[in-house]
Amino acid sequence: MIPIIKPWLGEEEAAAAREAILSGWVAQGPRVGRFEEAVAQRVGATAGLAVTSCTTGLHLALIGAGVGPGDEVVAPSLSFIATANAAGYVGANVVFADVCAVTQNVTAETIASALTPATKAVIVVHQVGMPADMDAIGAVCDAAGVTVIEDAACAIGSRYKGQEIGSHSPFVVYSFHPRKVITTGEGGMVMIRDAAVAGRLRILRQHAMDVSDVARHDSETFIFERYPEQGYNYRMTDIQAAIGMVQLGKLSAVVARRRELAERYTSALSRLSALQLPVDPAYGQTNYQSYCIKLTDGGRPRRDGILQGMKTRQIGCKRGIMSAHLEGAYAGHPQGHTGALPETERWTDSSFVLPMYHLMTDAEHAEVVTAVKALL
Ligand SMILES: *Cc1c(COP(=O)(O)O)cnc(C)c1O
Repeated sequence: MIPIIKPWLGEEEAAAAREAILSGWVAQGPRVGRFEEAVAQRVGATAGLAVTSCTTGLHLALIGAGVGPGDEVVAPSLSFIATANAAGYVGANVVFADVCAVTQNVTAETIASALTPATKAVIVVHQVGMPADMDAIGAVCDAAGVTVIEDAACAIGSRYKGQEIGSHSPFVVYSFHPRKVITTGEGGMVMIRDAAVAGRLRILRQHAMDVSDVARHDSETFIFERYPEQGYNYRMTDIQAAIGMVQLGKLSAVVARRRELAERYTSALSRLSALQLPVDPAYGQTNYQSYCIKLTDGGRPRRDGILQGMKTRQIGCKRGIMSAHLEGAYAGHPQGHTGALPETERWTDSSFVLPMYHLMTDAEHAEVVTAVKALL
């Protein structure tokens, strides 16, 4: 069996988790603070806020952007469904923008056509790690007075104009789920530009308690905490942060290896005219969180045939990215099942993802290539 992904975890992560456990401080504590600083420094962001997942991070980012009931949030339907769901958590209405036929990402043009006077924020997804064109998108959003939030769940280590994704917008949110590039089991982090907003979200993460556990623990005098508003429990544990520190140290190696494996897929498959293979855009580099291929014709029946064929060969091939507007959760949405998002639906119907992981062997890689060629 060749899995779709296998996190690169080992003795170092186990030792770091053990050290955290034996320290006695297992909930959010000093290791979380150090992990936040290390990620922020690595990606060139002002501050990092560790959370339980990218999904809860998107929720806090939307609150930080001042999005509330009745506001509109523009986002791609072509994304993991958490992107669209986050808008609902703050009572906002999601408006779906179509995506580019080459990058899978929303563009300045598709966003512009989805903006209305009610738009308060835009969530830009760097789909499967492929960087979106942030300067062009930022210009459209700035002109409209709309806040940009980057759903960078898959994009830690990807680059835009030479710089890692993480500092191009007021909010950038990563995921550390095992399906992503580096992992803490579950977990996420919000990179936040504005210090005052970061301070407020730090408090909301912890039940809106105005004094942290660490501050109370370190104080000489007894402190009574207060709860000035309704908050959440979105805290990462120190065990996760300890694992995350080790994983962060591996990030450059993971991205380099994924790009090497991707290049090999591309050179082995590029002569097959039935396949549209992923490529770096002119302005950046993907981390290849997934190697996602689109069929140039044949649509869903042909794609599903490939998925079944790969399953029969015990190769962990997955469909490409879902469309939220085609799911039951968005059945009553004005854009639900309307066919108004043609490129989005083409990607969902016609794409699939090949297995790729740090310790993938040459033999496994070759087996996948042989299977794809045979099935076509
Ligand atoms: C995986 C993913 C999420 C959800 O991340 P969690 O950390 O599991 O909440 C959100 N958006 C995108 C684009 C994703 O790929």
